[in-house]
Amino acid sequence: MTLTTPILPPARLGILGGGQLGRMFTVAAKTMGYQVVVLDPDPLAPAAEFADEHLCAAFTDAEALAKLAQCAAVTTEFENVNADAMRQLAQHTVVSPSGDCVAIAQNRIHEKAWIRKAGLQTAPYQVIESAADISEASAEFLPGILKTATMGYDGKGQIRVKTVAELQAAFAEHNGVACVLEKMVDLRAEISVIVCRLNNEQALCFDPAENQHIDGILAYSIVPARLPQALQQQAQTMAKRLADELDYVGVLAVEMFVTGDDSVLVVNEMAPRPHNSGHHTLNACVTDQFQQQVRLMCGLTPGNTALLSPCTMANILGDVWGDDGSEPNWLNLQQQASSHLHLYGKKSARKGRKMGHFTTLADNADAALQAAQALHGSLK
Ligand code: ADP
Ligand code: MG
Repeated sequence: MTLTTPILPPARLGILGGGQLGRMFTVAAKTMGYQVVVLDPDPLAPAAEFADEHLCAAFTDAEALAKLAQCAAVTTEFENVNADAMRQLAQHTVVSPSGDCVAIAQNRIHEKAWIRKAGLQTAPYQVIESAADISEASAEFLPGILKTATMGYDGKGQIRVKTVAELQAAFAEHNGVACVLEKMVDLRAEISVIVCRLNNEQALCFDPAENQHIDGILAYSIVPARLPQALQQQAQTMAKRLADELDYVGVLAVEMFVTGDDSVLVVNEMAPRPHNSGHHTLNACVTDQFQQQVRLMCGLTPGNTALLSPCTMANILGDVWGDDGSEPNWLNLQQQASSHLHLYGKKSARKGRKMGHFTTLADNADAALQAAQALHGSLK
């Protein structure tokens, strides 16, 4: 269904997935006066604490989907949902982003094809769907990373390869599932741009975030990115162009690499939802990315994306909990006047699990990063 007039409170909004992104969406929607229904098979789903209704069922459960279909609008918090379920829901209610866009974002092969179709650059890559696709010609993309086409996140599903023999072994290690072999690019920085798009005329970007990863997981997002203004502008133009090409409705995160001496921007991947690198918007922007998700799914114009202060967002992983499950030392962080702690209410702190984040505001990006690093160090 398409929207003719905006959806207003206290309408019921549905979301597929109740992890931390679903939780922050739920808080935003509730604050704005909407009711929220969350579908998530996990009885301890982080969003359930705040939702009006938690449908604790599989994402393909017909009964649960029928209940979601009664919502005024439905969105998603992650890309690995069944895109067909979203297309079915769209016959009964307003769904954003579309199942088609989600299907593209969940498969690196489609994703890269669309990025190029939008006239944007990717790293050089080869699609490898069977062992027969690997040949001496593959050497052109080495050294490279063999990434599974689907279900990759936080560096999972990736094997680095230097030779054709290693590539063959890596493909076998991925059990022969469809993959993309991506040439290693000369990474100078990683950034992400979050686009909030209702239609061609109404689309706004947040300032690019500069992202630092540790062990393949986002550790810090620094905003504004410490890059020339012209490059930042170019990144926003590129992200918008991709959203336009997809006729995207909602919040779209576009990850990019700044490469080589001449700072060429290549698009890495996209996420059809709010993104970890946009969590700083909760405390440092006029409108946060979850409010944007609510607004856009309801057919409302995107809110002002202006940055109010330089800041750094730091992820808090389960690693900072004690081996006996004891809490981190929150005191320093909680006593710091310019930092904001967000915890996701997850019951068990496993290593590598995203348990929360905090955002530190400062006079400039360098100072914010330094303060955030020191505070992060004080947790353990
Ligand atoms: P994920 O879905 O796990 O986020 P990404 O494709 O974003 O997968 O890769 C994870 C990280 O690996 C990136 O943030 C980047 O640091 C590194 N990486 C990925 N592809 C390349 C590449 N072609 N060249 C250099 N580094 C890369
Ligand atoms: Mg990534």
